[in-house]
Amino acid sequence: MTIKTYLQQLQKLLPNTWIEQIQYIHSSLLFRCILFLGSKPLTFSHKSTMVFSPHQDDETFGCGGMIANKREHGIQVVVVFLTNGQGAGGSQLNSHDKIIQIRKQEALTALEFLGVEPSKIHFLDKHDGHLQKLNHQERKETIEQVMYLIEFYQPQEIYVPHKKDCHQDHEATYELVKVAIAQAGITVDLLQYPIWLFWRSPLFILLKLQDIAAAYSLSITLVQEKKQQAIAAYSSQLESLPRGFINRFLGDYEIYFKAKS
Ligand SMILES: [Zn+2]
Repeated sequence: MTIKTYLQQLQKLLPNTWIEQIQYIHSSLLFRCILFLGSKPLTFSHKSTMVFSPHQDDETFGCGGMIANKREHGIQVVVVFLTNGQGAGGSQLNSHDKIIQIRKQEALTALEFLGVEPSKIHFLDKHDGHLQKLNHQERKETIEQVMYLIEFYQPQEIYVPHKKDCHQDHEATYELVKVAIAQAGITVDLLQYPIWLFWRSPLFILLKLQDIAAAYSLSITLVQEKKQQAIAAYSSQLESLPRGFINRFLGDYEIYFKAKS
């Protein structure tokens, strides 16, 4: 069974409420509008890269094509997961500890499809769902951990979730990494990847013209199959995410928004 067939079969099993159908149409329209009317093509760069991902799957959904593309050219890609992923949906039979282990293993498998070595994958294991609620000390420690990794790897590009991604952990990841970059004092290209932005937000209210002007599209046709395999590796998440939401990430383009670092 091919990966695509597997995903299609899986999706037939999932509920498809009218709300999800509306969200799917809405997010598809917004994605296409940005892609074909509002974005500039992102030229392939040989810059070394770090991807900061709040949960085990965001890096693959948002940046899987970019990661596979860079790894095929032998360019360093480091992936850092901020939370342990224990808040995920999926089978109720699993304990929190079990969910954490499952998601870590899925992340390693997904990133293997994309060509990232385990030594370049870091788990900061923060409590899932609490990145915006860290107390002063926890926030300071998290920023220092991120800063240490940035200083260690000296990336030329950093990818973070969009600052208005309609999810607390995602927006907090953007903020924490941005502060760490400033404290590290390095110059780096900062690119934001949208995960929930198109699905949850009334985009034209949330996004200002200057946000849309910073949109870039990356063609990932050559590595699309690798990305689909990596997405399929996250089987615990595919059970619980809306099928229209997953569909958007199976296509041949990724969208990024450049930010000022
Ligand atoms: Zn997430």
